[in-house]
Amino acid sequence: MDKSLIERDRAVIWHPYTQMKTALPVVPIIRGEGAYLFDEDGKRYIDAVSSWWVTLHGHSHPYIAQKIAEQLTTLEHVIFAGFTHPVAIELAEKLLQILPADQSKVFYSDNGSTAVEVALKMCLQYWSNQGQTKTKIIAFKNSYHGDTFGAMAVSARSAFTEPFEKLLFEVEYIDTPNAENISSLKSQILGLQDVAAFIFEPLVQGSGGMLMYEAEYLDELLLFCKENGILTIADEVMTGFGRTGKLFASDYLVNKADIFCLSKGLTGGTMALGVTTATGQIFDAFLSDDRLKTLFHGHSFTANPIACTAALASLELTLKAETSDNMNRIKQSHNHFLERIKSHPKLKAVRQTGTIIAFEWNTGETTSYFSDLRDKLYTFFLDNGIILRPLGNIIYILPPFCISNDDLNYIYSKIEEALDKF
Ligand SMILES: *Cc1c(COP(=O)(O)O)cnc(C)c1O
Repeated sequence: MDKSLIERDRAVIWHPYTQMKTALPVVPIIRGEGAYLFDEDGKRYIDAVSSWWVTLHGHSHPYIAQKIAEQLTTLEHVIFAGFTHPVAIELAEKLLQILPADQSKVFYSDNGSTAVEVALKMCLQYWSNQGQTKTKIIAFKNSYHGDTFGAMAVSARSAFTEPFEKLLFEVEYIDTPNAENISSLKSQILGLQDVAAFIFEPLVQGSGGMLMYEAEYLDELLLFCKENGILTIADEVMTGFGRTGKLFASDYLVNKADIFCLSKGLTGGTMALGVTTATGQIFDAFLSDDRLKTLFHGHSFTANPIACTAALASLELTLKAETSDNMNRIKQSHNHFLERIKSHPKLKAVRQTGTIIAFEWNTGETTSYFSDLRDKLYTFFLDNGIILRPLGNIIYILPPFCISNDDLNYIYSKIEEALDKF
């Protein structure tokens, strides 16, 4: 590893989610190709977490790179209020073709958190534009929707949100639904006043620990919200673009949310871009001769043409038969490993949805994100050329779709080794 890069980094950089005093040394990466990242000494790492869940088709994908290069010398950016450009229009058209039929408008922003902020503002202003004072938001326990203030407010309260707790608006947290609790969840919701919206991560709660729940009861809950005038927001920032085995996790549902939030895999992991889509019913509530009913939201880089180009190119790759074959291959491979490993005494739980598989270590004590085990596992996999970032005592594989069977098998074998060791 290059000392000078590490030293230069330490002198000037403040890393995300990192206690800078005690953090393990950073790994300088100078190149990426397919499922691999390479450091300066040429050491190869399998990117088993898709670089924080964003990379879909592999690093430095030549097709996406070529499309971006062309766009860079055509139009790199233009203000998006009062102006438009062909790539933003084409991307919106293509997204609306693959989202549920009642989605009718696309609002661009910069990342997953901003996509959630926009969704929340759309819901709250939807009601206020109609003279109603509905402001209560419902969210799931263990939810994660981003790090900006509104997104933080609708996320579960945790060590991460503690310093800001007093400033976060109040949210009603409910359990994820199952056969046993669905009736009591409905009663809980009926007991609430002025509910504006319900926001949820469909089927997989990512940052909460890759917690998974059944589509059937989520479907019932969504129908119930609709019947009771509660707007619904599907935060598909992580689950979108094939991670769960279908294009969107919502494709497992009959009842669809009113609003969708997309980011992470949207550009194949190439550029930062967020999307919030809404039904015509929501959009129409903002149409008025009264200017105060406008959605006053926008970012400097709204609908950046380079990011939109990356998204279009990535979407083209995502929709190829080869990609869905790869998704199915990963899904089956995970499933075989799950069957083999599930009764291992060191495992409290193994769970899988599509291309995501998670392993919960039985530590005999209540562990947290900050546990020692986490750092031991992280370092063990890194030493073995695998990037896996445990969430406390939970490790998970969320790979780019181009990952090979050999690499998957190698990761599985190292997980088995880790189970024996730690
Ligand atoms: C990562 C994530 C976000 C936040 O996205 P950023 O781009 O990191 O701001 C929001 N919702 C979910 C479900 C996520 O996984």
